[in-house]
Amino acid sequence: VIEARSVEFSFGQTPALRGASIAVESGEILAIMGPSGSGKSTLLHCLAGILVPDSGEVLFDGARVDSMAETERSSLRRDRFGFVFQFGQLVPELTAVENVALPLLLSGVRRAAALRKAYGWFERLGLEGMEQRRSGELSGGQAQRVALARGLVAEPEVLFADEPTGALDSLTGEQVMDLLVAAAREQGTTVILVTHEPRVAAYADREVIVRDGRVNAPAGIAS
Ligand code: ATP
Ligand code: MG
Repeated sequence: VIEARSVEFSFGQTPALRGASIAVESGEILAIMGPSGSGKSTLLHCLAGILVPDSGEVLFDGARVDSMAETERSSLRRDRFGFVFQFGQLVPELTAVENVALPLLLSGVRRAAALRKAYGWFERLGLEGMEQRRSGELSGGQAQRVALARGLVAEPEVLFADEPTGALDSLTGEQVMDLLVAAAREQGTTVILVTHEPRVAAYADREVIVRDGRVNAPAGIAS
């Protein structure tokens, strides 16, 4: 469903991707691992149409994301992709349930319907009663579950997650991964997940390693 072909990207003089190629199947849960600074986040951002590669191609559903106009890429991100980042990045001025409803509101769903759908996530995430709290009134694990609900509420075709358990202890991290995998499977969502934790990568169908801006199969597995 989504593919990078020989993608190169530099931040000024610093090369971050040097010919990265990866193809992700529909419904697949892929873990991207690799050392700090190897280019994992940059690759995720290129796949998600947040960054435009200097050269190479990014395809989603057969369409060239890298040559789209910014307006087209931003509608793609808004309407067909979901995002979860390391520190949740909830909007502090909004309540938890408004944060979850946000992607629906941005896609034009009416407020009452969006909030109704958002409320539905709180029970399944074990967050009943937290709906009206602001992000500063949630624990790290609770905030991360709210961020997960926000990433999935619009039933995106692809969920991009950069260290979604990075700020959590390992038990809480595993609970978040259990929820993420169950919800993604149920919705048929493709998941592209960056992590440096083998226990988190173990939830994925497949694992790749980014090294020096290129994508490799894990050591010991022929590619
Ligand atoms: P980490 O595991 O630490 O998150 P990463 O694998 O996600 O690392 P990237 O963030 O993709 O690595 O960074 C790849 C390279 O690009 C690194 O050399 C990094 O220093 C550089 N880089 C990343 N973001 C920027 C930026 N905004 N400006 C300049 N250089 C950057
Ligand atoms: Mg990173």
